[in-house]
Amino acid sequence: MEIPVPGSSGEGVSPDDVKMLERQMLTTRAGRVIAWARKSSIWPVQFGLACCAIEMMSTAAARFDIARFGSELFRASPRQSDLMIVAGRVSQKMAPVLRHIYDQMLEPKWVLAMGDCASCGGVFNNYALVQGVDKIVPVDVYVAGCPPRPEALLFGLLKLQEKIAQTGGRRA
Ligand code: SF4
Repeated sequence: MEIPVPGSSGEGVSPDDVKMLERQMLTTRAGRVIAWARKSSIWPVQFGLACCAIEMMSTAAARFDIARFGSELFRASPRQSDLMIVAGRVSQKMAPVLRHIYDQMLEPKWVLAMGDCASCGGVFNNYALVQGVDKIVPVDVYVAGCPPRPEALLFGLLKLQEKIAQTGGRRA
């Protein structure tokens, strides 16, 4: 039996066939699928610097459950991570280490500055601390607070997901 090829001659394709195909098919662009996959599985690197890190750790507990957003896999290796959450103040001594870990992460990668200390130095306006981690690495999302609650960090994660969905993970 010859199988009609839809659209080749106009024969064999009824309006009902077209409706059925429209119900069963989904068209999109490869870039959108890749962006969706990236934003749905952001794996953070295990990296905590100070008090904010306690709040970050609690997002993985049952009460806040970061797994709902696909980011529960905190990786011990930067090579398996997409996201660096800078949770806490960054000392001048720690800055080159932070940059080194960032450089070891594969592209595409993102940085979230968690808390006032990581974002701008916070209350520690002195020579020993970096006055904002964006002086060392590019920051995608800033989460304010001292410390920000776990909900605030999750909100920042959702904002990052929106950004990835819009840009496909590329930097502007
Ligand atoms: S922002 Fe506040 S809670 Fe976070 S590291 Fe600084 S002092 Fe600690």
